[in-house]
Amino acid sequence: MSLKDRGYADNVLRVNLTNQRCTTERLDPDVMKLLLGGKGLGAYYLYKESIPHADPLSPENPFIFVVGPLTGTSAPTSGRFGVVTKSPATHTFLDSYCGGFFGQTMKFAGYDAIIVEGASSNPLTLVIDNEQVHLEDAKELWGTTTAEATKKLKAKHGEGFQTVVIGPAGERMSPISGLFNDERTAGRGGAGAVLGSKKLKGIAVRGTGSVQVHNPVEFDEAAWVAYRMLRMSNQIKRLNDDGTANILGLVNAAGALPTRNYQEGQFEHSAEMTGEAWRKEYWTRSIGCYGCPISCSKIAHAKTRDVAIDGPDFETIWAMGVNCGITDKEAIIYSNYLCDLYGVDTISVGNIVGFVMELVQKKMISAAELDGVKAEWGNGDALVALTEKIAKGEGIGELLQKGVREISKHYPGSEDFAMQVKGLEMPAYHPNAAKGIGLSYAVSERGACHLRGSPLTIRWRPKEKPSSFKRTNPILRSLTQRFCVTS
Ligand code: SF4
Repeated sequence: MSLKDRGYADNVLRVNLTNQRCTTERLDPDVMKLLLGGKGLGAYYLYKESIPHADPLSPENPFIFVVGPLTGTSAPTSGRFGVVTKSPATHTFLDSYCGGFFGQTMKFAGYDAIIVEGASSNPLTLVIDNEQVHLEDAKELWGTTTAEATKKLKAKHGEGFQTVVIGPAGERMSPISGLFNDERTAGRGGAGAVLGSKKLKGIAVRGTGSVQVHNPVEFDEAAWVAYRMLRMSNQIKRLNDDGTANILGLVNAAGALPTRNYQEGQFEHSAEMTGEAWRKEYWTRSIGCYGCPISCSKIAHAKTRDVAIDGPDFETIWAMGVNCGITDKEAIIYSNYLCDLYGVDTISVGNIVGFVMELVQKKMISAAELDGVKAEWGNGDALVALTEKIAKGEGIGELLQKGVREISKHYPGSEDFAMQVKGLEMPAYHPNAAKGIGLSYAVSERGACHLRGSPLTIRWRPKEKPSSFKRTNPILRSLTQRFCVTS
């Protein structure tokens, strides 16, 4: 049976930005027997083609877009794509994933992977219209926000095209920058910076093909059963009703909701931050990615600032809200909007602001050093002001955009509360109440990541004495030192 009959396009697009040549090649059927999905394919090409100790921002670091055999089929939630490269934040393996509508379009255009190698000296965009592929000048897009770049690319090539782009943060190679398919983000680990180093502003793709499976009748029956199970699941209903933030109350009750830069594990205002509270006050409608019956995404409208965004999701509500002691939802929505526009990761930005607020609390940094911003716990205006500086890389933002690990080097003694592992800022689960996730953060190849393994429930222990809460960062650091691969 050929790979084409098993969900693959059996085609890899190789784009060399140095000599601006685009070529295609077949997948290796023997290798494919050993790999699982798009992640396996990306890991295989990165391992095969990267040079040990290469700088992540050098032309030697390949950047690989991948989809899996289910992408573009009738299986539920099958529109996601991944990007695989060496991370400028961690200097280790990075895979980052994104929903939206780019993944299945890439597959319909006929590609399982797009390998971007080398680097250009001038800004370029990659345009893929099924088998027609070319690079074009992107001078007029360089410097534009993700929204502007997306709009211009779609206007130029037509609405049938899907896009991924980087924002100004990716162009200036910030290690917290991501890439964006409309407002969907592959945010973690600095993937945007790698594309910025290659001077590739983005990709526009149109695909009109389809995906073949071995037994379409049985496949569709199985997909139908999966859809039915999702529709009948109470957990999925909660995800649909209250978005990913439906778990915020539970995580808080367990004492695992990192509060004020991980100083505590419960937030006294958690009831104001649950999915239910957001639904009642701010969410106007639900949207879903390609082939998704869940629609966990919510559109939120910040009335006083007059912006509507896809978000914020649980991790963003935690990072920009709870982790900074903030309940100002308008400030969180607007900060999320700025992150999307300039192309930075909301989890990292929320961590950075929380870290700065603890520096202020400990009198290790002054308002003057922060360009006059009064970064005290709970101050929503300070969140917006610092997010804008980070997103634009201006003023103190020039340092802050480098991430918590780099910032802490400038403030001796702050390493103990710089909440990061291998250079990646930590997500929304406190290891003190969910011990297994501490190990997961420490040994994950991606650094502090909540998407590696699922140890959360294995050691899940409700916190009994909130006042006795202590951070586990020294433990994490010791584990990290043991397991960390730095280059
Ligand atoms: S809408 Fe939510 S659940 Fe559905 S594919 Fe997108 S991210 Fe996943």
